[in-house]
Amino acid sequence: MKALIVYWHPEPRSFNHAMLVSAQKALIGSGWDVIVSDLHAMQFDPASSRANFRSVKDPDYLKLQIEEMHATEVGGFSEELAAEMEKLESCDLMIWQFPLWWFGLPAVLKGWVDRVFAMGRIYGGGRIYDQGVFRGKRALLSLTTGGPAEAYVQGGFNGDIHAILRPIQRGMLQFVGFDVLAPQIVYAPVRMSDQERQSELERFKERLSTIAGEAPIHVGHY
Ligand SMILES: Cc1cc2nc3c(=O)[nH]c(=O)nc-3n(C[C@H](O)[C@H](O)[C@H](O)COP(=O)(O)OP(=O)(O)OC[C@H]3O[C@@H](n4cnc5c(N)ncnc54)[C@H](O)[C@@H]3O)c2cc1C
Repeated sequence: MKALIVYWHPEPRSFNHAMLVSAQKALIGSGWDVIVSDLHAMQFDPASSRANFRSVKDPDYLKLQIEEMHATEVGGFSEELAAEMEKLESCDLMIWQFPLWWFGLPAVLKGWVDRVFAMGRIYGGGRIYDQGVFRGKRALLSLTTGGPAEAYVQGGFNGDIHAILRPIQRGMLQFVGFDVLAPQIVYAPVRMSDQERQSELERFKERLSTIAGEAPIHVGHY
């Protein structure tokens, strides 16, 4: 079985990087083939443009979804995007490892979705949600926050974390057909002792060692 970890953090000594390393070790230890897209190391450009394509459908007006459908037909995606799409298509489990920024994905990871989730190849023509291209595959968000756990509940000052994650889990992952596993959330690692952070890394490793048998969650409407 293959796992793809899409990771973004600008600091290689970050706690997010430690989570990435823990995930790699745990999955490899349980027999998974693991591929990592380290978007910062790759200097992945998050901005969609004509550079997404080698093909051109309409040279006068850039309509991304039209160009995406054309590129799907003629194999016209840039080498960089085609490589990411192949990783996505070949994985059984996808993990996104990231710090929560402004209640969402950091821009480079969001840009990876903008560019890689292309109409025609990744979704479209009725192939969404239960009929999505990636049905049968599973996805997991693994994130860290600055705010403490008590701030991320209903009535807390940031509100329910599951409502915050809904646009990602429903609007991106389930939209293209993934089953969504419960998010792995480390609240405020900055405020923890070293030992507490080590425990979080161990908790993630333990979970991943049996992830193959884990059931997906229901993503609510809130
Ligand atoms: C633009 C921006 C927007 C943000 N928006 C939000 C938001 O909307 N909501 C919110 O809650 N927060 C927000 N934050 C805060 C952000 O989510 C947190 O700072 C981030 O999640 C913390 O994770 P990190 O990996 O960067 O931690 P780091 O600061 O890199 O690490 C925390 C600690 O862990 C230590 N560490 C690293 N490796 C290990 C290891 N192997 N073992 C033990 N300890 C280790 C580090 O040395 C450090 O002391 C935002 C931050 C920015 C910059």
